[in-house]
Amino acid sequence: MIHGRVEYAELTFVPDPAGQLVRFVVTLPDGVSPDQVEKQRSRQRSELGELRRILEGHDPWDLPDSVLTGEDLSALVSSAVSSLPDFEGITRFPRDLIQNLAEAGLIERRWRQRSAGIAGDVEFGILLSDELARQVPAGACIGYSLHTETVLSLLHRFGDNEFLTQLRAEAMAGRKIGCIAASEYTGGSDLSAIKTLATQVDDGWVISGRKKFVSLGAVADFAITLCQIAEPLGEPTGRTALIVVPLDETVVVAEHDKLGTHCLDTVAIEFDHVLVPDDAFLGRKGLGVLSLNYGLTFERLAIASQVTRGCELALSMAVEHAERRRQFGKALRDHQYLRFRMAEQLAEIYTLKSAVSDLAREVAHSPMNRGLMSRIAGVKLVAARAGERLISESMQVFGGAGYLLSETPLGQFWNDVRVARIGAGTDEMMLSIVSEMLAGETELYDRLVRIS
Ligand SMILES: Cc1cc2nc3c(=O)[nH]c(=O)nc-3n(C[C@H](O)[C@H](O)[C@H](O)COP(=O)(O)OP(=O)(O)OC[C@H]3O[C@@H](n4cnc5c(N)ncnc54)[C@H](O)[C@@H]3O)c2cc1C
Repeated sequence: MIHGRVEYAELTFVPDPAGQLVRFVVTLPDGVSPDQVEKQRSRQRSELGELRRILEGHDPWDLPDSVLTGEDLSALVSSAVSSLPDFEGITRFPRDLIQNLAEAGLIERRWRQRSAGIAGDVEFGILLSDELARQVPAGACIGYSLHTETVLSLLHRFGDNEFLTQLRAEAMAGRKIGCIAASEYTGGSDLSAIKTLATQVDDGWVISGRKKFVSLGAVADFAITLCQIAEPLGEPTGRTALIVVPLDETVVVAEHDKLGTHCLDTVAIEFDHVLVPDDAFLGRKGLGVLSLNYGLTFERLAIASQVTRGCELALSMAVEHAERRRQFGKALRDHQYLRFRMAEQLAEIYTLKSAVSDLAREVAHSPMNRGLMSRIAGVKLVAARAGERLISESMQVFGGAGYLLSETPLGQFWNDVRVARIGAGTDEMMLSIVSEMLAGETELYDRLVRIS
């Protein structure tokens, strides 16, 4: 359902499940006199006519940005979230969040193919991620972006057979939820050294091994799993591959007790000779780490956007508190040192927001290349580090109350945001990606540097 407003009238456009416009409801709020209505009638008619023209013949999700933005998106997300149980105290990701977002048409809208192709509408994805970060805790946002950004980007990019196309359709509809199983007990940074094996047998491949960190692993239906391909006798080849493995045949061996992001389950799982078909491979065999990095790049951008929004929320509460709280005879806000520190936070938030939205636009319109992947890694790195620092600064404005979990949510925000420096690749791995693009400028150096 999409809401709009022209002068005195509230408009509601109700699409049917097939996406066609079937109802167009105009409501006049209480207190508007017939005279006022008469006066505005001709103007409204032309505005309504204009909106009808915009809407007729359009897929409702293909509305111009001026119609589906801000309040509309916020209302859709809020209705997807409203039927969920309270997040307080839950330790498993609520699957219904993804299903409800899918039913509201939002996941379809995120992955609608734009002219450039497989990345879908990344800008919309960022708007959605940003809105979710406003309405649900960080753990739920991460679970959402693992499925909608990482898993679905891999299924769109590499899902080229019937098995994977069918799985993608189920995942888009929120009927099946996917997760990523890459990191192992031996390490999550050096993924080329993983030990989980995929061994070919007559009717497919057998997967065996253990993964230490699998977020959504307790609730998802399948895991996109990074394996090492083995010779038929089980000898590892050193070549990695991504394979879809059903989770109903795996065992959860541990549920991790985490510092934050509690409503996202993160578990260790074991694959004990799980048989998968040859069609379950995503991308080329031997290029598993590279293919995974493609999917993680979308998640990194979503993390940067969610962290930025988290900082914005924390700052807005700090500013409000600084207006209400008085010390030394005036509001905290009127102490210039505090006001300037909050302004510094806002300036960093502006910068991060611009960087995230620029990258989202570029990714949507041009294929993902090394340069873009490096820039996204750079923004994720900077956002994750800034998140930890900025939320701590907002906490500081609350004094002691900032440290009390029973009085303010800032401490929990701080615990939650810390994982952004680890998940989807640590700070150090982001630096490694960024460092590949370091390039000197020979001509400039020769022209301007005169070291004796
Ligand atoms: C809450 C949470 C959820 C997670 N969810 C998932 C998930 O869904 N799926 C998944 O596959 N993984 C997941 N992970 C795992 C995460 O991706 C890894 O923890 C991360 O990649 C680091 O791996 P590690 O913990 O093994 O640390 P290590 O790889 O052992 O690294 C330890 C430290 O050394 C640094 N380091 C390593 N190599 C170098 C180097 N060459 N130069 C400089 N520094 C280096 C690392 O950056 C890190 O700081 C999750 C982790 C957490 C905490």
